[in-house]
Amino acid sequence: MKVIVVGAGYAGTIAANRLRKKVDDAQIVVVNPRADFVERVRLHEQIAGSGTAATPMASMLVDGIEARVGTVDAFGDGSVTLSDGSVLDYDYLFIAVGSDATPTPGAVAVGTWEGAQTARSELEMLGADGVVTVIGGGLTGIETASEIAAARPDVKVRLVSDRLGPSLLAGAQRRVHKALDRLGIEVVEDHAVAVDDSAGARPTVRLRSGQEFASDLTLWAIIGTVPDLAARNGLTVNREGRAVVDDYLRSVDHPNIFVIGDCAAVPGARLSCATATPQGAHAADTLARIIEGRTLKPYSMGYAGQALSLGRKDGLVQASRRDDTPRHLRLSGRAAAIAKETISRYAKYGSRTANYTWLPGPQ
Ligand SMILES: Cc1cc2nc3c(=O)[nH]c(=O)nc-3n(C[C@H](O)[C@H](O)[C@H](O)COP(=O)(O)OP(=O)(O)OC[C@H]3O[C@@H](n4cnc5c(N)ncnc54)[C@H](O)[C@@H]3O)c2cc1C
Repeated sequence: MKVIVVGAGYAGTIAANRLRKKVDDAQIVVVNPRADFVERVRLHEQIAGSGTAATPMASMLVDGIEARVGTVDAFGDGSVTLSDGSVLDYDYLFIAVGSDATPTPGAVAVGTWEGAQTARSELEMLGADGVVTVIGGGLTGIETASEIAAARPDVKVRLVSDRLGPSLLAGAQRRVHKALDRLGIEVVEDHAVAVDDSAGARPTVRLRSGQEFASDLTLWAIIGTVPDLAARNGLTVNREGRAVVDDYLRSVDHPNIFVIGDCAAVPGARLSCATATPQGAHAADTLARIIEGRTLKPYSMGYAGQALSLGRKDGLVQASRRDDTPRHLRLSGRAAAIAKETISRYAKYGSRTANYTWLPGPQ
């Protein structure tokens, strides 16, 4: 039986590893654009130089899985075509291509490996009077601004957003404000509309209010799009371009195509490794059950909270109900920074070893 996994992020890696362990005769090929597994949850560390997000893909996959560097351009009934023209056959396909960022011109994406690499080298070249602007006040923007400010206290960091931490309760938002203030980050509650980086002049960011300021490095910390692979190849997608799946994480159009992680439209799921990892595991378990002729179990997953780092020494964990609604329970400071680090390590460990457990979803 031939299985192709497209994308070696959290979802694709755990799916391939778990399947390898459960189905003896599966020939599994994982296709990924680069030879590294990228821990996207560490891209802000990669940018600031305080951590590294890349691990060789081969070391993340258990023996017997073929790692192939390439990009899948198209898929049809039983085969995929890579951008170099090669064609691979499959009996089952796992689409795990993650999510993407579409920065405004002149800004650099935080949420992609390529963007993070560009940002890291531009930050390294920035002198002591440099100005960094982070656009986006979600958890990614907060983590990115904090990480840079903590690692590079010599540069000025601004965070621009209409709202800071919209998924956090008011108390947690105040705690984040305090942490950003301590790190010397200026929070500008506005909407960035354009970046002017014409040659010869110092780049500027323009806000909806008309205000303008110099910005030597402008980072786009909004992750709102998904690769159009599923849509382009005829799968039913929702308004955001995520593939619509059944209760078992299979495309509603093809029972032999699983779609998992950020690119799957799973009701109630938030874009996160906390979501992608159990989806990858469950899809592999489902395929093992199909092969063994056993009854399938619908996918079910519950959340425990949201965790964010505020530099390496501070953090915040906000507990949630299993349906992801926030609870008035939180942890902050060094203990929260350690908790966040532990969660990040667990997601990677789970992907690499296929040993991963999660909470069942709300009743
Ligand atoms: C800075 C930052 C901090 C974050 N912090 C957290 C956090 O604290 N907690 C949390 O839960 N989540 C966090 N996230 C979100 C989390 O990283 C993502 O939700 C998660 O990575 C999704 O996993 P995935 O496996 O679906 O996709 P990804 O990890 O994005 O992996 C998808 C893979 O598919 C590859 N691919 C894409 N197209 C193709 C193609 N055509 N052919 C072959 N391969 C392809 C990609 O290159 C990539 O390697 C953070 C994200 C960022 C950017």
